[in-house]
Amino acid sequence: MPTDLIFRISGDAFVLLPAKVYDVMKSFTSGSQGETEAGGILIGSYRGNHIHIHQCTVPLRKDLRKKYLFDRKDRGHQLAAMLAWTKSLGTETFVGEWHTHPEDFPVPSSIDRGTWREIIKRKEVPVVFVILGRKGMWAGYGRRGEVVKISMLPNESP
Ligand SMILES: [Zn+2]
Repeated sequence: MPTDLIFRISGDAFVLLPAKVYDVMKSFTSGSQGETEAGGILIGSYRGNHIHIHQCTVPLRKDLRKKYLFDRKDRGHQLAAMLAWTKSLGTETFVGEWHTHPEDFPVPSSIDRGTWREIIKRKEVPVVFVILGRKGMWAGYGRRGEVVKISMLPNESP
C-alpha cells in the first residue's frame, strides 16, 4: 500500500501529502515527461495548525515547460483552486505549489526562492512548496516572508 507522507512544520503542526497526490507529481519526473520541468498548484485545507493537501493541478497548455524552468502561466491552475473553493463551500483552497527538477535530489534555485518570496508576500496564511526530483524531494513551509525546509516523518507502518 502506498503511504501518505507527513512533514513536520514544528511541534505538533504537520503537512499531510497523500500518496495519490505524490504519485501524480512524481509521474512528471521520469520518461518523456521528465525531459522538461513540470508543476502546478497544491489544493487542500487548513485544519488548525495542519495543512492537508488533497489534490494538485498538473501542467496545462499555456504553461512554459523548459529543461530548467517551469512557469505556471496557464490560468487553469487558479481556476481549479477557485472551483475547489466554491464546491467545498470555502474549505478547499490554494495551499501551495510544486514543480519538478531534472536532478536526483532537488534543491531550490535562487529563482525558486524569488518566486516563493513573491507568493508568501501576498498571503496571510502559510504556503507549502514542493520540488520533486528523480530520487528525492524537497519540501518547504513559507510564512511571514521566509521559507524553511520541513522534514518528512519516518514511515511508521510496519
Ligand atoms: Zn525549481
